[in-house]
Amino acid sequence: MSLKVLVVNSGSSSIKFELYQMPEEKVEARGLLQRIGEPGSELKCRIGNEELVVARSVPDHAVGLKLIMDTLTDSANGGLKDISEIGAVGHRVVHGGSAFSETVLIDDEVLKAIEERSALAPLHNPPNLLGIEVARQLLPNVPQVAVFDTAFHQTMPDYAYAYAIPWELNEQDHIRRYGFHGTSHRYVAARAARLLGRLPSETNLITCHLGNGCSITAIRRGASVDTSMGLTPLEGLVMGTRSGDIDPALFTHLARTKGLGVKEIDTLLNKKSGLLGLSGLSNDVRTLLAASKEGHGGAVRALAIYAYRIKKYIGAYTAALGTVHALVFTAGVGENSPAIRERSLDQMAPLGYRLDKAKNEQAVRREMDIAEASSPIRILVIPTNEELLIAQDTYRLAAKA
Ligand code: ADP
Repeated sequence: MSLKVLVVNSGSSSIKFELYQMPEEKVEARGLLQRIGEPGSELKCRIGNEELVVARSVPDHAVGLKLIMDTLTDSANGGLKDISEIGAVGHRVVHGGSAFSETVLIDDEVLKAIEERSALAPLHNPPNLLGIEVARQLLPNVPQVAVFDTAFHQTMPDYAYAYAIPWELNEQDHIRRYGFHGTSHRYVAARAARLLGRLPSETNLITCHLGNGCSITAIRRGASVDTSMGLTPLEGLVMGTRSGDIDPALFTHLARTKGLGVKEIDTLLNKKSGLLGLSGLSNDVRTLLAASKEGHGGAVRALAIYAYRIKKYIGAYTAALGTVHALVFTAGVGENSPAIRERSLDQMAPLGYRLDKAKNEQAVRREMDIAEASSPIRILVIPTNEELLIAQDTYRLAAKA
C-alpha cells in the first residue's frame, strides 16, 4: 500500500516535520518552524530539491501547522497537490509513562492518557498534545499515531527502574525511572543487529545517544533493560547544559546555603550545568574540542568529566548485561567525534572494547564498525534516524487501520 506519512515533532516553540513516501521511505519534504509565539517566527524547509524560508508571524501551534500544510501544498513549491494526499500522521510524544510500551493509534482515550502524563513532562507533553489536536482538526479522517520516547524502556525490570525510596511513591505517584530517547535507541539497535547479522532477539547491545541530550541504554535480546535517564531527562550522563547524575542532597544543600528556590535550582541543573557549566564556555562539543586544543582549562575539564561519565556507564552496563555483542555510538557527538569516542573507551580493552584508531577517525556520520578485527565486542557508529522509525511505525499501524 502506497502512503504519504507526515512525521510531526512539536516542541514548546517549534515544529519539526518530515514527509515520507512509504513504503519506499523516500523523504519528499522536511523542515523546521521556529520561534512560535515569539517575534521572528520562521519556517525553513526543503521540498523536493528546493530550499525555502518563509518568514511569517506564527502566534501558536495551530497557525504553525497550518502554515506547514499550506507551504507543502503551495503549487509554487511543487510539493503536494492537496492536503488530502497525506495518508497518516506520526507524532513524537515524549512521555508515555507506564501506560504505553509501544506505538499506538491515537483516539480520545490515548489523548487523555498523554494529558494525564503531562505532570511528568510539563515542557514536552503539552506541545506534543497541541500538535496532535491541530493535526486531527486539519486531517480529521486520517490515522494519527503516537510514538513515545519512553516506550522502548518499558521492558526495564523493577530493580533497574525503581528508586530506593518508599515503594508507595512508585506505585501511587509513579515516581520511577522511565528513560528517554527510546526511538533513537530502538532505531540504532535494529540497525546494529542487521549489521552484525544477528536476530535482534539474540543481540545484546549498549547504545550511546550523545547529542545535546545524552543517554545510554543496555539492551538484552532486543529489549531495553536499563537506561541512564530517569523520571526526567536530567539523570545520567553529562549533557550540553544538564548535569546528569548528582547527589540528590545537592538540592537541599543549595537551598540552605545559597538560598536558591526550586525554580532556580531547576534552571541551574537543566540549563546552566553540564558542558556549559563546567567549561564556562559552551555546550557545543565542537567548540570545546577546539578550545581544549588551545589549552582552555574549562574546556579540558568539561570534556574529561563528560567522557569519564560515559566510560563509567559503559562499564556498568557491561556488568549489567554480562555478554555484550556491540557498543553503538550515535547522535551529534557519537556520530561525529572520534575524539570523544576514543576518550570514552580509554583503557577499556580488558573489558573487551578494542578500538581501531584509524577506523575511528574515518567514521564520521556513517555506519561503520570501528573495533579492531580481534575485538571481542564490536564497536559501531550508526547515524540515528528517529523520524524514519516514526514513519515506519505510523505506516505499519495506518496500513492495519
Ligand atoms: P539534539 O540532541 O539537539 O538532536 P544533536 O544530536 O544534533 O542534538 O547533537 C548536537 C551535538 O552534536 C552538539 O553538542 C554538537 O557539538 C555535536 N556535534 C555535531 N557535530 C560535531 C562534530 N563534528 N564533532 C563533535 N561534536 C559534534
